[in-house]
Amino acid sequence: MNQVDYLRISLIDRCNFRCQYCMPEGAELDYILKQQLLTDKELLILIEEVFIPVGFTRFRLTGGEPLLRPRVVELVKAIASLPQTQDLSMTTNGFLLAPMAQNLYDAGLRRVNISLDSLDPDTFDQIIGNRGRPRWEQVWQGIHAAYRLGFDPLKLNVVVIPGVNDHEVLDLAALTIDKQWHVRFIEFMPIGNSQLFGDRSWISSEELRQRIRERWGLTESQVRGNGPADVFQIPGAKGTLGFISQMSECFCDRCNRMRLSADGWLRPCLLNETDQIDLKTALRAGISTIELREQVRNLLAIKPDINFKQRYSGTATGVYTRTMSQIGG
Ligand code: SAM
Ligand code: SF4
Repeated sequence: MNQVDYLRISLIDRCNFRCQYCMPEGAELDYILKQQLLTDKELLILIEEVFIPVGFTRFRLTGGEPLLRPRVVELVKAIASLPQTQDLSMTTNGFLLAPMAQNLYDAGLRRVNISLDSLDPDTFDQIIGNRGRPRWEQVWQGIHAAYRLGFDPLKLNVVVIPGVNDHEVLDLAALTIDKQWHVRFIEFMPIGNSQLFGDRSWISSEELRQRIRERWGLTESQVRGNGPADVFQIPGAKGTLGFISQMSECFCDRCNRMRLSADGWLRPCLLNETDQIDLKTALRAGISTIELREQVRNLLAIKPDINFKQRYSGTATGVYTRTMSQIGG
């Protein structure tokens, strides 16, 4: 079992996109009320007085769309400047990134993952549920702004959906050839849009690798992250290709993370809806941070037993009630 030292923090459950696989249009989403969100102060207390003392040193800010969180730059600065913070990163859809990238960098953020499911502006708008002005270009500008500033590694996340964007896998993989960009293909999970999942299903990482191998060859990268991705490289490419295969493989033995939702629920595993603990209510009820550390330690202790293998038995239907935007994907 890996050491669990990595916390994914959802800053907000709202989003300016409605990606088909995450927050499909028409889905009733109960957004967290403002007063239920962890405040900046509460979040920092939890990080400093609960998570760091029990061994967390690496943090990722996510959502929903983290760049929609008011004062996100100040939050980044506060977390980045904690002496125990060894790593701070963010997962964003990139739409608001271009004008914010410099301030985020100056505040201490050095790593971003940007979701980019398509290189075709029309397909992109279709995936993100946009019927207004085209949005792809602004995201592309965000990616370039981050690249110019030197965010490193710069990762591009792609959720592959059969018949929607899988025909672009080679084009997306080719982005890693000339630039030090790291494209990560994520297997589509039955979270968020079970109907789309039922209709389209998912493609295994191995099938994607096979397509890429046939075109360019593929070598296993020497760079092995400590996350769930299997990392490969097109021979001679500057960047890498990561494959996150939570549907076709079990990587629970190398899982190093927990997730904190924007309303303060701590989840021991992405798909575990039964063992999470409500840190915000406890904090507001005046429970001491020393006691909260104990609760987190207890959760860490049971984490190996409640892992992702339960993915289809975790709920009666095999379908999960909270979307990735709510959990903090
Ligand atoms: N809004 C930000 C973004 O899109 O990058 C951060 C939050 S989003 C929930 C984090 C990641 O979860 C994204 O890379 C997204 O593609 C992924 N995701 C959401 N729903 C998913 C699903 N059903 N299956 C696989 N990945 C999913
Ligand atoms: Fe928003 Fe990210 Fe979910 Fe897309 S994947 S709807 S950008 S939270």
